[in-house]
Amino acid sequence: MTAQGGDILAWLETAITRREETARTVGYGRIETGEYLWVSRYLILLDGPNGESKVTTEMPAELAEHIAANDPESVLRRCAADRKLLELHGGRGHGCPAYDYDGDLDEFARFYNHEACPVVQHLAESYGWTAGQTPPTEGDQVT
Ligand SMILES: [Zn+2]
Repeated sequence: MTAQGGDILAWLETAITRREETARTVGYGRIETGEYLWVSRYLILLDGPNGESKVTTEMPAELAEHIAANDPESVLRRCAADRKLLELHGGRGHGCPAYDYDGDLDEFARFYNHEACPVVQHLAESYGWTAGQTPPTEGDQVT
C-alpha cells in the first residue's frame, strides 16, 4: 500500500484518543434502553458520577438501541481493541494478508516499519481517514 505509515499512525492515534476522551466526558459508563409506550423507548444512563443513574425522555426505538449499542463503555472497549491491533500492525515490520497489485489476496505480505498495512488503513477508515486510499501497485509488497 502506498500510504505512509507514520502519517496514518499519528492521525489514527489522535483519532482514537479523541474518541476515548469524548466517551469519558459523557459522564455515564453504560447506557441501556427501557420500553416506553408502544414502540418507543427511553435511555437509562448508568454508572454516572457517584454511581448515579438517569432516565431520558422518549425517543424512537431505533435511535435508543443505536445509542445503547455505542455507549461509552463499548466505545472504550473498541478503542482498546483498536490499540491492540495497532500494536500488532502499526509502525513495525510484519507480515499479514493483503491484496496484491492484481487484486488477488496474498496470504502473506511483508510490510516494513514505514508502511501502513491494510489493517491499519481499515482501522483509520473506521475513524474517518480518507487520504491515501490508492490501490496497491506492483512492488509495494514483498512476499
Ligand atoms: Zn498488518
